[in-house]
Amino acid sequence: MPWCEDCSHFWNAKNLAENGACPTCGTVLETGPRKVPWHFKALLVGLAGYLIYRIYWFAEWLPKHV
Ligand SMILES: [Zn+2]
Repeated sequence: MPWCEDCSHFWNAKNLAENGACPTCGTVLETGPRKVPWHFKALLVGLAGYLIYRIYWFAEWLPKHV
């Protein structure tokens, strides 16, 4: 998905203007080859899950050790 830096917004390719420009600010965005690979997303999801687990673990652990 093309990312507009000025708007901080991910655009769907079909929502872009004909020349690949941002529909809000008109900046021409790169499309195609620079999309985020699926395994990068999977890594982020895994990392988020791990962090939530660690925070939960710490919240459980803390009251027993103060
Ligand atoms: Zn924009």
